[in-house]
Amino acid sequence: MKKIAVFTSGGDSPGMNACVRAVVRTAIFKELEVYGIYRGYEGMIDGEIKRLQSHSVSNIVQRGGTVLKSARSMEFKTPEGRKKAYDNLTALGIEGLVAIGGDGTFTGAKVFFEEYGIPTIGCPGTIDNDLYGTDYTIGFDTAVNTALEAIDKIRDTAAAHDRIFFIEVMGRDAGFIAVESGIGGGAEFVMVPESKTDLDHVVKSLKNLRKSKSSSIIVVAEGDDAGNAQTVMEKVKQKLNDPTKDFKVTTLGHIQRGGNPTARDRVLASRCGMSAVEGLLAGHQFHMAGVVNQEVVFTPFADCIGKTKSLIEDHLKLMKILSI
Ligand code: ATP
Repeated sequence: MKKIAVFTSGGDSPGMNACVRAVVRTAIFKELEVYGIYRGYEGMIDGEIKRLQSHSVSNIVQRGGTVLKSARSMEFKTPEGRKKAYDNLTALGIEGLVAIGGDGTFTGAKVFFEEYGIPTIGCPGTIDNDLYGTDYTIGFDTAVNTALEAIDKIRDTAAAHDRIFFIEVMGRDAGFIAVESGIGGGAEFVMVPESKTDLDHVVKSLKNLRKSKSSSIIVVAEGDDAGNAQTVMEKVKQKLNDPTKDFKVTTLGHIQRGGNPTARDRVLASRCGMSAVEGLLAGHQFHMAGVVNQEVVFTPFADCIGKTKSLIEDHLKLMKILSI
């Protein structure tokens, strides 16, 4: 293998740049030509592909977002779109790909590999931490710390006014951000899509808590089965039926995607990026490079997409015990 290309795809996450940098520098170290594909699969189809040098990735390790830009591509979901992408890659002689993204990105990579056989290694770039095959995903730690900083600030005002705050964090299908920011932020409750939310229990507990605490923080993952933070707040308010209580909702939104990546994310991104290039050279063809128990592990895309990563049971237990 002499020429490879790297791209970022799907939702951006802090640390993607550190990963791109590691891919580029490792490739050059291994005497490969390396190309950057801009705007993910969309740029692969439109031929937005440029040769990268070591200096092309200078001064980006600390930046959030992605210098290669990201996009969601409907055209790549069609055979015609993928054919155009393949033609652009072969015209440049590209023999291997590194895809940085989430499960959608790896689904696309799997389909593309099955059709055209270009070896592709994935790096887990998503704030959601919802990928099987890695303990943590690139961007998750930064997103949790961003949420935590906001929760700390909200706690000040919640305490000053005896308020019950519902804070919505990202997580349509996964509650990792909610659980870790909830534990770290000392929340009274965390509501996640993985477990059924019992609002009657929440209301009962809030009544009990009122004897010892005047304010409460409830962290709600956006995809919770009881609804988003606004809906949950309205339901709880109605059930609690206490006009003396002041309820507030804060939705953190896209702030969780931005910002300088934490040290943990930069190191994880760098390890995955380096391992992706080494994996390609070692003959891996449709795998994600992740880190499990401190070791780099290559997991087939089919497992990363098809298997569910569960929340850590101990974290849920911690939430229950520490919120009394
Ligand atoms: P995040 O988890 O942060 O949302 P993601 O990688 O899951 O990131 P998606 O938007 O789901 O983001 O997927 C990225 C891109 O992968 C899509 O825009 C599409 O181009 C491609 N893709 C997803 N599913 C398929 C598929 N079944 N066939 C071909 N391409 C696909």
